[in-house]
Amino acid sequence: MLRRQLLAALLLCVSCAERPVAVGTTISNVSIVDGTGSSAYTGAVRFIGDSIIAVGPSVKAEPNDSIVDGKGLTLAPGFIDTHSHHDDGLLQTPDALAVVSQGITTIIAGQDGYHPLPLQATLDSLSAAPPAVNIAFYVGHGALRSAVMGDDFKRKATAAEIDSMVALLRSEFGAGALGLSAGLEYDPGIYSDPSEVMALAKVTASLGGRYISHIRSEDRWFWQAVDEIIAIGREAKLPVQISHMKLGMIPLWGQADSLIHVLDRARASGVEITADVYPYPYWQSTLTVLYPKRDFENVAETERILREIAKPEGLLLGSYAPNPAYAGKTVAEIAALRREPPSRTLITLIRDANKMRENRKAQAENGVVSGEVESVIATGMDEPDIKKILAWPHSNVCSDGALDGAHPRGFGAFPRILGKYVRSEHALTLEDAVRKMTSLAAEHAGLVRRGKIAPGYHADLTLFDPATVEDRSTPKDPHLTSQGIDQVWVNGRSVWRDGRTTGERPGQVLKRETAARKS
Ligand SMILES: [Zn+2]
Repeated sequence: MLRRQLLAALLLCVSCAERPVAVGTTISNVSIVDGTGSSAYTGAVRFIGDSIIAVGPSVKAEPNDSIVDGKGLTLAPGFIDTHSHHDDGLLQTPDALAVVSQGITTIIAGQDGYHPLPLQATLDSLSAAPPAVNIAFYVGHGALRSAVMGDDFKRKATAAEIDSMVALLRSEFGAGALGLSAGLEYDPGIYSDPSEVMALAKVTASLGGRYISHIRSEDRWFWQAVDEIIAIGREAKLPVQISHMKLGMIPLWGQADSLIHVLDRARASGVEITADVYPYPYWQSTLTVLYPKRDFENVAETERILREIAKPEGLLLGSYAPNPAYAGKTVAEIAALRREPPSRTLITLIRDANKMRENRKAQAENGVVSGEVESVIATGMDEPDIKKILAWPHSNVCSDGALDGAHPRGFGAFPRILGKYVRSEHALTLEDAVRKMTSLAAEHAGLVRRGKIAPGYHADLTLFDPATVEDRSTPKDPHLTSQGIDQVWVNGRSVWRDGRTTGERPGQVLKRETAARKS
């Protein structure tokens, strides 16, 4: 790739004889944080086309280069989001404001067991009409399971069904997926037997892929869920990553040290286990995910949920189609309006939402139901745990965000790391935080020549002001762009400048490269 680019640039110069040197871009007067964790230093970066040619304290612009004065700001590799839902709507809004305004240049989709099937069709659409950012996909276990089992998914799969999933996995993988993703707390993955997931993980390993999972429980059966993913790494012999790792239940709070101990012990025994994490004490999902047994009418279970998983005042509805006036209110506030105990409110909210889902399903001609019925933002994590998980040497940063989501992480996750956790609270050094957003993320996803500022790497770059960078999005106002992200380049082209998207769409579809497993 690099050689081809250079050749093209040189040919360009031969054809215009007066210009002796390839035309590039030099970003000068910057503090370079190169993504490896090395200390920042003052210098310049030069790139031609989509490839970085030179970086260092003495790099100078060539005569015909465009020169960008970095004004002493920090230049880092473009951020890589290893758990993103920003693919949803990307073809319709290819500027990807939520993404580029955070300094993210690559998103990794196909998360939580879901990917668009067939994957090749989506990749073709994205290649034909590229977005502003790079994108890669995992193949989702849930998507395979749905394709094979349809509506009859509330049970273990038969051996023949697992064989069909394996066949589908192999063909979907051919499109260039990074690996297999699972969402074992969601339908339909929650009904799978661990042996089903193991069988698919073994095939994934044989194809050179990796495994990531929203694990089977982030609360009640947390430790068993951690054991399950460790067992997959050990027996299927492939790298495994816990998605958006968290201790999501009040009785689990304060146990980050124990968790890290379990993971370090697994690593010491040869399991290549890692994690990604987003920097918020609240998650976003559906109300139904609170009930792993799907026993939505169970009063005792509901009371336990409101005591141990999330308090009524910590359950904020992002959307609620049966009664849109409830959006933006907490279960505590809605219970007060209805003059009833919060447990009864929660049961009723889910009952009405499920009724609406059933109605929509009955009305849908092709059985495909569209439109969100409800979503919730739930405060379920503890800040000291988040800091310890963030600081674990094998965790990288993700957003878990969406272009149009109700959770502020969609617009703010990466600047929040740099503002809150680096500048204000000193939980990470700037260099380590950038490493966790770039080279470590690339390594954990198996991406090559991304995530570092080094010759031969792609010119994905983010220029920001470490003194002011900060997220501004909140649960009440989740689409506010961040401050302090000055300029962003994807594959050498500027996508974010002067506080707005540029209209450039240089994003590439990234595919699994076998070299990633060897490096
Ligand atoms: Zn998830």
